Amino acid sequence: MKNKELINRSLNSVWHPCTQMKHHECSPLIPIKKGRGSWLVDFNDKKYLDATSSWWVNLFGHNNLVIKNHIKNQLDQLEHSMIAGLTHEPVIELSEKLNHMTGLGHCFYGSDGSSAVEIALKMSSHYWRQKGEHKKTKFVYLKNSYHGETLGALSVTDIPLFKDQYSHLMKNHIQIDSPDWRLGKENETAKEIAIKKISKLKIIFEEKHSLISSIILEPLVQCAAGMGMYDAEYIKGVRKLCDQYQIHLIADEIAVGFGRTGKMFAHHHAEIKPDFLCLSKGLTGGYLPLSVTLTTTDVYNAFYDNDVKRGFLHSHSYTGNPLACSAALGTLSIFNSTDVLLENQNKANKINFMMEGYKNLPIKNLRNIGMIWAFELNKNINMSKVINYCINHGLLIRPIKSTIYFMPPYSISEKEINHMVRVTENGIKKACI
Ligand SMILES: *Cc1c(COP(=O)(O)O)cnc(C)c1O
Repeated sequence: MKNKELINRSLNSVWHPCTQMKHHECSPLIPIKKGRGSWLVDFNDKKYLDATSSWWVNLFGHNNLVIKNHIKNQLDQLEHSMIAGLTHEPVIELSEKLNHMTGLGHCFYGSDGSSAVEIALKMSSHYWRQKGEHKKTKFVYLKNSYHGETLGALSVTDIPLFKDQYSHLMKNHIQIDSPDWRLGKENETAKEIAIKKISKLKIIFEEKHSLISSIILEPLVQCAAGMGMYDAEYIKGVRKLCDQYQIHLIADEIAVGFGRTGKMFAHHHAEIKPDFLCLSKGLTGGYLPLSVTLTTTDVYNAFYDNDVKRGFLHSHSYTGNPLACSAALGTLSIFNSTDVLLENQNKANKINFMMEGYKNLPIKNLRNIGMIWAFELNKNINMSKVINYCINHGLLIRPIKSTIYFMPPYSISEKEINHMVRVTENGIKKACI
C-alpha cells in the first residue's frame, strides 16, 4: 500500500534523473525505505541486492558504521563554514591524506563529479594562458567517453544520447579513438590495440599540440560506455606523449578510483602520475556529495601571484563542506584499517569462479578487472525480461544498452555473491525461453 502511494507522490513531484518519465507508466519506480550492507529494502520489506553500488558510489554498502560515526562526530562540531578566508580540520586532514596517497600536492574541492571535471578543464587551459600559450584551448577526449553532463564536461563526453540535444551549446573539442578492446579486430590483443591507438594519437599531437591544453580520459575502464576496458599500456603511452608535446593529462577516476580496478587508483596500473586527478563517487562512500580535483605543484605555482586575476577564481557554495570531508575521512579510515584491496582480490576470485558457467550463456566479451564484471547479451535476448526477473528475485542491476555489469559494494559476502551471480544467470536463461 505504502509503496503505491509513494510511487504516485514521487511521479507527481520529482523529475527523476536519466529517465523518460513516461516510461514509468509501465515500469514502476521502487521506493526505498532503508539500506543495510549490500541491500536496499522497500516499503514491503522486500530486499534487493545493490549490484551497482547505487551508481558506483556506495563502496562499502549501506549503513556503514565507520563512515556514519565520522559524520556524527563532525555534526556536533561544525556542519559548514566556507573555506575562502577560513579553513577547518576535516578539509586539511583530507587534503593531506589525498596528497599523500596520490603524490600530487594540491586539492581543489567541488560538490560532484562534473564540477571536478570542469575544474580540471578550466585550470588546465588557464595554466597555459598564464604561460603565454593563449592558443592551447582544445581538449582531447576519447570516443565513448563520459565525464559528466554540465556543459563543459559534456563537451568532452561522447554519449550521443546525453549530448546530441545540447551540442549547439558547446564548443567543439578533439575526439580520438578509444582503445576499448571490444572495438579492435578479432585477433588483436588489448595491448596491441593500445599500442596502435597510441601511434594514431602521436600523429594528432604532432600536428595540433600548439592548440591542445589537455587530454582527458577514464583510466582503464570507460564505465558509462558499458564498462569498455583497455590496456594500461595506453595510459603509459599517453603520459609519454603528453610530456613530449607539453599537454596535460587529466585522469577522471570518478568511477574507477578507490580500489575499483584492484589498485587504489586505476592509473597506478600504468605506474604514471597524471597532471590532474578527478575523484568523487566512492570518495564519501555514498554518504554526501563531494568531489576533488588534485593537481601538481607545477600547476599550483603557475597561479601563485600578486595579481588576483591570475588566481583560480572558481568556487562552489559547498566547497570543502566539513560533513562531506568527514565522510571521506571515514572512507579512507576503512582503507587504512583493513586491507581492502586484498580482501577484494579474494572476493573477485570467488566471483570469477562462480561465473565459470557464464561461458555457456548467450553472451559475449565476458570481462573483469578488480571489482567490475561486464558482458554483452546476444541480440536476440530480451534485456527487459532479464531486468524484471532480477527485480522480482531481489537483485538490482542497471544494464547499459546490451551490457550487463556487476559493480558490487566491497561489503558483499560469499552468500550475496552467490545470489548476484545465480539470479542474473537464471534471468538470462529464462529470457532465452
Ligand atoms: C559519474 C561520473 C562523472 C560525473 O559525476 P557526477 O557526480 O554525476 O556529476 C564524471 N566522470 C565519470 C567517469 C563518472 O563516472
